[in-house]
Amino acid sequence: MRVLKFGGTSVGSAERIRSVARLVSTRGRNLVVLSAMAGTTNALVEIASLIKENQINAAASALDALKEKYAVVVADLLGDDRGYAAMAREAVKGSFDTIRNYFGTKRFTDVDERTILAQGELISTALMACYLRSQGVNVALLPALDFMLVDHNNQPLPGFIADSLNGLIEANSDAELFLTQGFICRNSRGEIDNLQRGGSDFTATLAGCAINAEEVEIWTDIDGMHTGDPRFVDGTRRVDSLTFDEASELAYFGAKILHPMCIWPARSARVPVRLLNTLDPSAEGTVIGLSDNPDGTLKAVAAKDDIVMIKVTGNRLIPPRGFFGKVFASLELCNINVDISDISEVSVALALGDDQPMIDSLLEKLSRLGKVAVEKGQVIISVVGDFTSENAGEYRGDIMEALSQFNVKMICNGASDSSLSVVVDNKDKIMALNNLNTKLFN
Ligand code: ADP
Ligand code: ASP
Ligand code: MG
Repeated sequence: MRVLKFGGTSVGSAERIRSVARLVSTRGRNLVVLSAMAGTTNALVEIASLIKENQINAAASALDALKEKYAVVVADLLGDDRGYAAMAREAVKGSFDTIRNYFGTKRFTDVDERTILAQGELISTALMACYLRSQGVNVALLPALDFMLVDHNNQPLPGFIADSLNGLIEANSDAELFLTQGFICRNSRGEIDNLQRGGSDFTATLAGCAINAEEVEIWTDIDGMHTGDPRFVDGTRRVDSLTFDEASELAYFGAKILHPMCIWPARSARVPVRLLNTLDPSAEGTVIGLSDNPDGTLKAVAAKDDIVMIKVTGNRLIPPRGFFGKVFASLELCNINVDISDISEVSVALALGDDQPMIDSLLEKLSRLGKVAVEKGQVIISVVGDFTSENAGEYRGDIMEALSQFNVKMICNGASDSSLSVVVDNKDKIMALNNLNTKLFN
């Protein structure tokens, strides 16, 4: 069995839903994971924030606009089929009623917000199930909220997911196809939660690991992983293959085509992942994890935004051993994740996401250890590929040459065999990415 995940654009209109339905109904008894239709999650985020601010009229008009969009989709998809069209309308209505029930609520909570966000995937899978059934496909719709569980640290629980998902599959032994929602899950308190934006990729690989899938296919709107982010970089090209390590570094360091955490389940279960294009289904795509051996080349460059750089210089009263220990203990105490770091005798430079709640408390703790300098508005750029290759020296030289005109504030290499990362100012990001793509790949 395979897991086939389709992102928002792939199910973004009635026509796209029909074409995904055709594709999945000819590929065997697989598990299909769907995102919400393109634009829906953003619209739901907006509606939730309007409800939170008690702007009920604005929330109602945004909800009406979304409702209108779905009415058109249902009519287009199932117009001729009264039975399934009525079922689809009923499912859509159920989700919109759920959202409307929050209008005017006194205390709008995070759980309420996440319940609203979940409606996008609940609707897209309901529509797909109705359409597939109208075409005579015996599909079992497996509720992700019954098997996708995260713990109190928002970490997925693979054992529970495997037991529950395999149980659901066994209970539907006559089904020709299985369908489920990406992104949504339950948390340790039993509430509706999610795997963060772009989380359907993570659902797909967690499910792939749970059912020990032959392969996970991530179907999207581009022909695979490119050498750079095509939204900012000219002349990028498709990458044929990546090791799990390479893909995981690219995902973590910002290649939006993959959710940052989605490679680890695939790697742990050794399930290859294939990135494929819904608009060109026969194209080769990018395969991840077929081999563990890097092939000596550089693969791609990714960028992670919203980084703050913190530099602590010890006052030399504390010996280096004690100083480093105290810096790391402060990070642990403040629950801070560091993306990359650089250490020398009595100074430590850290690059980390600026949205972590306890950064102020960290700065206060670090200021007791020495001089602290903070620079916001930074970006981490990571070049991913084989840095164990005999050409690695040349690669490092090319990277530095491509970045020579920028103020590179940190370089991190050596800690990973498959990436070299640098920190630059956000204003230099696009030009730096383009220079790197030209120098390394063209
Ligand atoms: P989906 O909705 O299918 O999950 P996403 O928008 O999340 O799709 O991911 C696909 C998009 O990721 C592409 O359209 C592209 O703009 C962007 N992207 C960013 N970096 C890369 C990269 N290195 N290679 C390919 N696509 C990338
Ligand atoms: N619908 C969710 C989002 O837009 C999850 C996903 O598309 O993967 O973030
Ligand atoms: Mg995505």
